[in-house]
Amino acid sequence: MIILKTREEIELMRESALSVSRTLGIIAKEIKPGVSTLYLDKLAETYIRDNGGTPLFKGMYGFPNTLCMSLNESVVHGIPNDKPLEEGDIISVDCGVLKNGYCGDHAYTFAVGEIKLEVQKLLDVTLECLYIGIEQFKTGNRIGDIGFAIQQHAEKHGYGVVRELCGHGLGKKLHEDPEVPNYGKRGDGPKIKDGMVIAIEPMINMGTRNIKQLKDGWTILTADKKPSAHFEHDVALIDGKPEILSTFKFIEEALKSNK
Ligand code: MG
Ligand code: MG
Repeated sequence: MIILKTREEIELMRESALSVSRTLGIIAKEIKPGVSTLYLDKLAETYIRDNGGTPLFKGMYGFPNTLCMSLNESVVHGIPNDKPLEEGDIISVDCGVLKNGYCGDHAYTFAVGEIKLEVQKLLDVTLECLYIGIEQFKTGNRIGDIGFAIQQHAEKHGYGVVRELCGHGLGKKLHEDPEVPNYGKRGDGPKIKDGMVIAIEPMINMGTRNIKQLKDGWTILTADKKPSAHFEHDVALIDGKPEILSTFKFIEEALKSNK
């Protein structure tokens, strides 16, 4: 069942989403070669708790940490560890915060130092997929139109679109209806309506779309070990149009001042 949100609820959700955005901004300042993902995870947890939120992922389904940190060929659900990041890595950071009873959930894939041009292109195209998907979230469309647009764009570049994991409705719970796949057919799925709040989150692989799971029971990897990227925004439908509740502006500011 899709739970539509009132304007008041959407404003509360904006606060939760922005709490995630600010946390990712803090992380962005610190991402560089030599820093461990566990250090970044602790930083995020402290920041979230100091600012009146609760790390949403920690303990959820048994996940041990605040951030999902997925390195290079890891798609999502990577567990932070004490291994230092290296020049040329990419690291997808997914963060969830519970605040005022509502969930925020968004993600960004960062470059660690200088990365190969072909990997930068993967990041650029995945980010484009996110915004192309968001454009389709409007009255008159169905949820399948989002995935259709994302898949078209990714496959045009020869990339693989992960099928097994997808975006989702968001609210008091992290995963609400509807599922929001990153592939699909035009005109498929539930009708898009005012008051819907969803997380749109393309997971795009440089090579095959196929994935496998590490023995840790969490980390999802590309089957061919080629890199994967993941960007996610929380989006509400207001007056028939998408309104992005989360923002990358704190990340962009941090990355600019790091240069
Ligand atoms: Mg997420
Ligand atoms: Mg999500």
